[in-house]
Amino acid sequence: MPYYRLLTASDQGSTTRICVVGAGAAGLSAAWYLRKRGFSHVTLLERSGQAGGKCLSLEQAGGTIDLGAALLMPNYKKVLAIAAEAGAATVPVAAFRGLRLRDGKPVTQTVGQMVLERYSLLEMLRAGSRYLAAYRKHRAVLRRPGFAGMAADAPHSDLSKPFRQWVSENGMEPLLTQLVLPFAAFGYGDVGALSVAYVMRYIPPAFYLTMSFRKFFRAAGQDWPRRFARGFGPFWQQIAKRFDVRMHALVEFVECDRQVTVAWSEGSHGNRVHHREQFDALILACDPRVAGGFADWSADEAALFAKIRTKPYSVTVCEAEGLPASVSFVAEMPGPGRLIQFWKPEPGRGPCAFYTCPADGISPEEIMTQVRDDLRLFHPRASVGRILRHASWDYFPHVTPEDFADGFYDRFEALQGRRNVWYCGALAAFESIENVVAYSESLADRLVDHLLGNSTESLGRPGASKLQPTSPVRD
Ligand SMILES: Cc1cc2nc3c(=O)[nH]c(=O)nc-3n(C[C@H](O)[C@H](O)[C@H](O)COP(=O)(O)OP(=O)(O)OC[C@H]3O[C@@H](n4cnc5c(N)ncnc54)[C@H](O)[C@@H]3O)c2cc1C
Repeated sequence: MPYYRLLTASDQGSTTRICVVGAGAAGLSAAWYLRKRGFSHVTLLERSGQAGGKCLSLEQAGGTIDLGAALLMPNYKKVLAIAAEAGAATVPVAAFRGLRLRDGKPVTQTVGQMVLERYSLLEMLRAGSRYLAAYRKHRAVLRRPGFAGMAADAPHSDLSKPFRQWVSENGMEPLLTQLVLPFAAFGYGDVGALSVAYVMRYIPPAFYLTMSFRKFFRAAGQDWPRRFARGFGPFWQQIAKRFDVRMHALVEFVECDRQVTVAWSEGSHGNRVHHREQFDALILACDPRVAGGFADWSADEAALFAKIRTKPYSVTVCEAEGLPASVSFVAEMPGPGRLIQFWKPEPGRGPCAFYTCPADGISPEEIMTQVRDDLRLFHPRASVGRILRHASWDYFPHVTPEDFADGFYDRFEALQGRRNVWYCGALAAFESIENVVAYSESLADRLVDHLLGNSTESLGRPGASKLQPTSPVRD
């Protein structure tokens, strides 16, 4: 940040009050970067009893296991910088194994072997180098957080296309097999059905190269991916201690204009304290649709947010034995509720996280019945014991390639700062930690500019109308 702006910011920062709804990676990193810019009166309202959101870990006597976010890649520069400042250590992650059935018999393969079963080495390398060249071509917009400027009528319109269509137009089909691991196994669904921009935002060159040539990077002392030794949840919880985070906070209403009035209650059941305070800005660091329950939004906000899609994603941690210490994923995309991946951090008896995309209303026990059946196909002698912890999420807020091409994100970005309300998190940035954190940093800059009066963004109040709380729309 330029020196003169820092000085002015720190003056104004001492009086400006900012409210953030949601203390996940997006909300906490927004508070982190605002403080770096001299704005330290930030109050975070967190609905649950714990900071971290989708970064959630189970701390066990034998070690910590992550239920939500786990992996750090070499391009995670902003997260790693926060980690370095907070003194959080990282360790490498065990092997990745693809599981498939051939003639009814289980086979274990690396991603490279899976690709080479269908394509030649030359085709695989050509696809990779074309991907990297395409990234380079679009890097001006890809390096900017957010997805504005990528609609069908923009110079970077290729980025709005469905990935499957784009790879076949450009002779990169091996990527559809190669990217099963980071997409299907990590809950984002069929990579071919997503806009190219989401893929490139998640997998920039440093990620793609380490993923493709892991062995060579390891030999050179670059062992990626890594994870936090004490877990991703405890990492954000440690950061949260530096800020004014109100737990079990239930936002009751928000009135936005030149000032933002927020009314909420907080505290434990039966002992809730009610607050009504004025802020200079409100940051929604959660799914923007939840705000429909407590705020008057404009008709265009309502129409825009109705386009958001999510995916069901759940993780169940159980005691397990007879499974290798690895991240093992099912190579052929299974149907709803089927096992897509399991992660056993340590060998022998101990906790194992099982990942599925269940249909609505399925209980953890029902999920595990299906998981045990699926696991038997690959590891008939494994035993899976009691459930230690379960979590499920409305995952990966995104829009279809049609809505992407139709300018969803240009309209979304135009909402930023209207009536002093700002948005960050997975919808704005893509559902991965580094992207969410990078977006929060850029949002902090925009917000500071706005508060200092350097911004051209409109403060006009559009015709307010009640946004009905929308229920999640699943793909
Ligand atoms: C199983 C799983 C594995 C993953 N693996 C990885 C990985 O390996 N690497 C990676 O980079 N990313 C991974 N991710 C993605 C990553 O976890 C998310 O992208 C990131 O945590 C999103 O952060 P966020 O702050 O935007 O949202 P969230 O983490 O969802 O945080 C939002 C917060 O807002 C709170 N909130 C919501 N509504 C309200 C309200 N009305 N009032 C107050 N508070 C509210 C929520 O309780 C929550 O704490 C994974 C996610 C999951 C679920």
